Amino acid sequence: MSTIAFLGLGHMGGPMAANLVKAGQRVVGFDPVPAAATEASAAGIQIAADAVSAVADAEIVITMLQTGAQVIAAYAGAGGAPGLLAAARPGTLFLDCSTIAVDEARQAHDLAIAAGHRAADAPVSGGVVGAENGTLAFMVGASDGDFESARPLLEIMGRRVVHCGEPGLGQAAKVCNNMILGITEIAVAEAFVLGERLGLSHQALYDVASNASGQCWALTTNCPVPGPVPTSPANHDYRPGFAGALMAKDLGLAEQAIALTGVDAQLGLHAREIYRQFAEGDGAGQDFSGIINTIRQQSTD
Ligand code: NAD
Repeated sequence: MSTIAFLGLGHMGGPMAANLVKAGQRVVGFDPVPAAATEASAAGIQIAADAVSAVADAEIVITMLQTGAQVIAAYAGAGGAPGLLAAARPGTLFLDCSTIAVDEARQAHDLAIAAGHRAADAPVSGGVVGAENGTLAFMVGASDGDFESARPLLEIMGRRVVHCGEPGLGQAAKVCNNMILGITEIAVAEAFVLGERLGLSHQALYDVASNASGQCWALTTNCPVPGPVPTSPANHDYRPGFAGALMAKDLGLAEQAIALTGVDAQLGLHAREIYRQFAEGDGAGQDFSGIINTIRQQSTD
């Protein structure tokens, strides 16, 4: 049994840490939000007085925070407060599962190495349901040795664990995947609105496209119209699912990566702008497939 420090016990981190406890691991956690800490405590996570004390005895430190700025501040310390890197035992493996920018992941990795630790990025897909059921997909950027150290824990929390390459490349895989997802959901939504205008039923378009070259996850799992796919958030008034705010955030990370590399990713940047406006309107808390309503509203009569 190893001792794992788990920082960030929110929507994703709470159930992920709970699955580690269920598998017999000792998990010491911290979250500044009292409700998150209370819920985690009920699931068997030992709650530390603060983040720094959570890592003191840990062999592995997992972070599941919202942003790269939070991860770097937690690692290095901020506002005079000590950071996790200074508090952990030498050689501790720092595993960041948050979704952050590729360059932020590389920065966090370099800080950890400079402090005498090991580090890997392991962002996830699969959402809160995947976190609860232990069926997440992990995309890991790590050295071969660090990947093998992390793998047994990741296999407790997830069903699929892919070693994408060196540190930072887990986040690279995540950002590329979510750029495909954001673009294809808009494409499917536009096609359904076009079909409506042409007099085509949702079911007929679904029956054709889901068995033809238009087939994709955005259509067959996250169909933006109610009816054809039982699990689709569209059947429940676009309750997420994957919230518009998170898609806007992830495409913001794609935008950063596009700027860093100079790629001519016109659709990625356009999708970023569409979801930014969606999230700033009433889409932040809706599933991102709710973008179909914006497309309808903005179509001319
Ligand atoms: P969340 O806001 O529910 O949880 C983050 C938690 O981190 C909060 O409870 C916050 O209080 C805590 N926190 C902040 N600073 C801290 C610190 N220094 N020490 C300890 N705790 C700290 O967010 P979430 O939905 O769990 O998402 C976490 C990450 O996972 C994000 O990067 C998100 O993009 C990614 N993600 C989320 C989903 C999803 O469906 N929610 C899916 C895939 C990936």
